[in-house]
Amino acid sequence: MPKTPKRGGASRPKTHAPRKRFGQNFLNDQGVIAAIARTINPHPEDNVVEIGPGQGALTDALFESGCAIKAIEIDRDLQSQLRVMFFNRDFTLFNYDALKFDFNELSNADHDLRIVGNLPYNISTPLIFKLLTHLPIIRDMHFMLQKEVVDRLAASPGNKHWGRLSVMTQVDCDVEHLFDVPPEAFYPQPKVQSAIVRLMPRSSAHRPECSREQLGKLVQLAFAQRRKTLRNNLRSIIDDTTMQRLGIDPACRAETLTLDQLMDLSLELSEAAI
Ligand code: SAM
Repeated sequence: MPKTPKRGGASRPKTHAPRKRFGQNFLNDQGVIAAIARTINPHPEDNVVEIGPGQGALTDALFESGCAIKAIEIDRDLQSQLRVMFFNRDFTLFNYDALKFDFNELSNADHDLRIVGNLPYNISTPLIFKLLTHLPIIRDMHFMLQKEVVDRLAASPGNKHWGRLSVMTQVDCDVEHLFDVPPEAFYPQPKVQSAIVRLMPRSSAHRPECSREQLGKLVQLAFAQRRKTLRNNLRSIIDDTTMQRLGIDPACRAETLTLDQLMDLSLELSEAAI
């Protein structure tokens, strides 16, 4: 993993009082902002979608490449500031809740959306689960997240962070933990460390015969009580003999199972089972 980028000077005067309910921790460090933009490396023809542009710190850096940006921002009070700031850019702003937004509206072709965002911590997990259902229109995603969420996205089997988020992301995306960002890079400073992650949808599906919806339900049950055995968590839907036939020890915990073992279990279940 590359090192945390060198910090630079503070970026802009704070004209807007940050709102906690919208998870507003604005990027405030030019060194970090430039490092994120370099990592994303937008090209003029890219279809870039930014979730939560805030006061435009990252947006401004991304615009240097000459790309067009479509942004989804829930806070109405930031709209006029953003529109003034980017009046001479190819900027389309949607005043909307990203969790309710129809991302299909933004796509012109298969795998064309480059989705980026310093995501508000309170919506990051549900938003990632939503975007995982739109992978055919997504080229890549770069997010700033709480480091603990990046650890979960990038976890391997046997790791304490391996769970529903890791499995359902890694089944269809390559996950890369790019670098960490300290609290001092934001205004106001969050209490936790942050990190940048890249999620890259795979060009061909791994075991497409395994329904992602069914896998999601199975994984939710298997990890429902992490300290319990698989036998206990899956008692109502799958028996010991079936698990043993698949080479899976019913006395193990779900966090020891690989992605393929979870897919094997899921394929054993009929649609009606869960
Ligand atoms: N991109 C800016 C930056 O890096 O300085 C702001 C990042 S701040 C962590 C998160 C931004 O997401 C805020 O501007 C906030 O208003 C916006 N936001 C919060 N919840 C949202 C939602 N459900 N849909 C769209 N935007 C949201």
